[in-house]
Amino acid sequence: MARSYVSEARRRVGPRRARIRPIIERLARAYPDATIALRFEDDVQLLVSVMLSAQTTDVNVNRVTEQLFRKYRRPEDYLAVPLEELERDIFRTGTYHQKARNLRAAMQMLVEEYDGQVPTKLDDLMRLPGVGRKTANVVAAERGVTQGIVVDTHVRRLSQRLGLTRNDDPAKIERDLQRIVPRADWARFPHLLIWHGRRVCIARRPLCEECVVSDLCPASRV
Ligand code: SF4
Repeated sequence: MARSYVSEARRRVGPRRARIRPIIERLARAYPDATIALRFEDDVQLLVSVMLSAQTTDVNVNRVTEQLFRKYRRPEDYLAVPLEELERDIFRTGTYHQKARNLRAAMQMLVEEYDGQVPTKLDDLMRLPGVGRKTANVVAAERGVTQGIVVDTHVRRLSQRLGLTRNDDPAKIERDLQRIVPRADWARFPHLLIWHGRRVCIARRPLCEECVVSDLCPASRV
């Protein structure tokens, strides 16, 4: 019964390839300012912010980095203090033991292998300790060298609700999205879903009656 209801909803909204453009256009109109919420001024700050944002909010990271970036200006600065001092400086972002160790190891690799610069290729970014595909995709996209589509918890939930993927694994979801989202939209698409996911398509109770893509969504409750 549930299965037939889902297939009926999928039939009603039509194939995902036909829906993806209007979904992007309507969300872009609804959220013209959808961008990354982290504050940074250079590539190293971007990398550090994204690494610190795991399991916490962007607002919280910005609070911590406001002080942090005054003290740590170059990759070498993260290596010049005792580990405990760095842990104290990032303590409020949570999981600070792990984050401090990863930050130091990543900065060390930048200094030793990349001339102190943040690399641009996804494969190189993912070599850095503590940098997974999601972090690498965020960093690459923000630097204008997009090579994939960021899949975080919002992108995953909304892609599933919107019937853009039937997968649960982020790498498979990314592959599904890459097949239908136009290349030129790979960078902004996750921001649109993240903004929509925070404001309307909320995890616990989506506000379908306020949603600009409800007629294109097989999970719509209206
Ligand atoms: S219609 Fe509802 S479930 Fe679908 S995207 Fe909109 S808020 Fe989310």
